[in-house]
Amino acid sequence: MTSNELKPIIIAIDGFSSSGKSSMAKALARTIGYRYIDTGAMYRAVTFYAMTSRLIAPDGTVKEAELTAALPSLDIDFSLMDDGQHTMLNGADIESRIRSLEVSAHVSTIAAIPAVRHELVKRQQLYGRQKGIVMDGRDIGTTVFPQAELKIYVNAPAEVRAERRFKELAEKGVETTYEEVLANVRHRDHIDSTRAESPLRRADDAIDLDNGRMTIDEQNAWLIEQYRKAALK
Ligand code: C5P
Repeated sequence: MTSNELKPIIIAIDGFSSSGKSSMAKALARTIGYRYIDTGAMYRAVTFYAMTSRLIAPDGTVKEAELTAALPSLDIDFSLMDDGQHTMLNGADIESRIRSLEVSAHVSTIAAIPAVRHELVKRQQLYGRQKGIVMDGRDIGTTVFPQAELKIYVNAPAEVRAERRFKELAEKGVETTYEEVLANVRHRDHIDSTRAESPLRRADDAIDLDNGRMTIDEQNAWLIEQYRKAALK
């Protein structure tokens, strides 16, 4: 079998926060030469914009009309750097700033606003026009690309995900506690799965991956296998 026999496809990877989706999506895209789009980073970029433009009050209330009016002017893009893909907002590298706990605390509220979702879903669909793409998020297999040839739904217990996220943040020097991270993970799980507009839901034709029990290498090998099967069809 040669790689020429594999047709270009769309790979949708959905799941809860800190399920390891992004790492596995990135590794898969690199191995098979696909473009990787981190849709969570797009929602984080809009949240960062709202925070720095004072469109979120200290009590969490969002100035929705102003944010909605500003959306078309937000240039959100990805740039490949030595240490990986960085998220850019209007030409500025905001990668490290969008990973902060502050942005994490507000992002699910911003992502629940219908106008924000409509705008970002539209942009995500444009990225998929050429196929050959790995996209991760919450609603990729259900809303963005219901026709995706391969859909993976990643799941792991909240405690496992919080532990993983806590270690990542500690490595980056962010001061926090496991309890604080677990509370944020649970809070985002709740908002993401109960919002009215495209909530996190497993697509009926998705393949489940419970990665709490697999090593990273096992996961990567399993994903490549799923890709080959889907791209051969
Ligand atoms: O994937 P990540 O945890 O960085 O995503 C940040 C937040 O963006 C999620 O908690 C969720 O609220 C939102 N999100 C979304 N739909 C997506 C991707 C992310 O609502 N497709």
